[in-house]
Amino acid sequence: MKKISILGSTGSIGTQTLDIVRANPELSVEVLAAGRNVGLMEKQAREFSPKLAVMWDEAAYQELKLKLSDTDIQVLWGMEGLLEAATYPSVETVVAAIVGMIGIRPTIAAMKAGKDIALANKETLVTAGHIIMPLARETGVSILPVDSEHSAIFQSLQGNQHNSIHKILLTASGGPFRGKSMQELKSVQVEDALKHPNWTMGRKITIDSATLVNKGLEVMEAKWLFNVNYDQIQVVVHPQSVIHSMVEYEDGAIMAQLGTPDMRLPIQYALFYPDRKPLAGERLDFYSLKQMTFEKPDTNTFRALKLAVSAGRTGGTMPTVFNAANERAVALFLERKISFLQITDIIEDCMLHHSPVPDPDLDEILEVEQETYAHIREKYQ
Ligand code: NDP
Repeated sequence: MKKISILGSTGSIGTQTLDIVRANPELSVEVLAAGRNVGLMEKQAREFSPKLAVMWDEAAYQELKLKLSDTDIQVLWGMEGLLEAATYPSVETVVAAIVGMIGIRPTIAAMKAGKDIALANKETLVTAGHIIMPLARETGVSILPVDSEHSAIFQSLQGNQHNSIHKILLTASGGPFRGKSMQELKSVQVEDALKHPNWTMGRKITIDSATLVNKGLEVMEAKWLFNVNYDQIQVVVHPQSVIHSMVEYEDGAIMAQLGTPDMRLPIQYALFYPDRKPLAGERLDFYSLKQMTFEKPDTNTFRALKLAVSAGRTGGTMPTVFNAANERAVALFLERKISFLQITDIIEDCMLHHSPVPDPDLDEILEVEQETYAHIREKYQ
């Protein structure tokens, strides 16, 4: 029996993780944690009977505590609650699927407590990869990627760990605005940006896919996870999202992982690694798959990808600025306060305004996050 804690259980990754649990009696949910969605948390708690349920929000916690008062489930809230959820003694693997930088502290705490991490939260490696990767080596815990591209790379590395990676080929669908000009992008609305061609995901990551910020974050994640430099990572636009990413070895051989777009596969692989378990669902049918196409990303129109690589190359606190600026800009776009193209303009402005601190500790990272938010508040709100 593998005992897990799910941080972000009410979200897109969280609910799909629970689908995997439903289909696999050898998984048991010890802890559920989320932000504000009390209704769904109550349902999940009643179905999976965890020992602990955590809400970030205090009012949500009060409500949940009342709703679960007829059960034995302990209910906590806030960062203290999240840290308890991350370090709960009986838990073996923590699924880190909270959206945003708030997920970093619990992930670090979980690692220090010796838990393996099924990592969905991108912000952790993007902003604190220089802390996380040495910590993983020190504590001996495994970081198992949940992001489909990184899972594909991880799967393509199996049996080849002793061989050097020549290049990582990180595939991208190109998002809903692939092929559009800057002029056309001026007038796109929230609804247009939320229509991802292949994947159903949370709102923030869906907007990040439309700006290509998501691919930029993934480039930074890949650098840390697979210990490569930025010159070794090539983004390849592949609109059909059949090849989830590839690894090219030094002899020119390329290993890839293919499949239908279904996040449950990488989630399940992370939970059962190195085993593969049965998974119901649509299968890739090569007879009906008419073609697979590939393109170079248009980084003149989708400038965020270029900015991400530049933030990653600069390093230190610059990736935090990139990430925090994007987080706030996406929220403003979703509130219809700024246009789609302004998301990238705001990221660029924040990066230009920042003097990077090399090798920051967690407090410095979180300080820079707040400074970036303050800069945006003063200038754009
Ligand atoms: P969602 O927006 O669907 O879900 C986010 C989850 O985080 C919810 O459970 C939410 O709770 C919880 N949450 C938000 N703020 C807090 C907080 N302060 N404290 C505790 N919990 C909080 O996001 P996704 O599931 O799409 O994404 C989660 C992470 O995984 C992101 O970092 C994303 O980049 C990454 N990822 C997602 C993929 C996908 O396919 N969706 C693919 C690869 C990576 P509530 O709703 O109750 O407030």
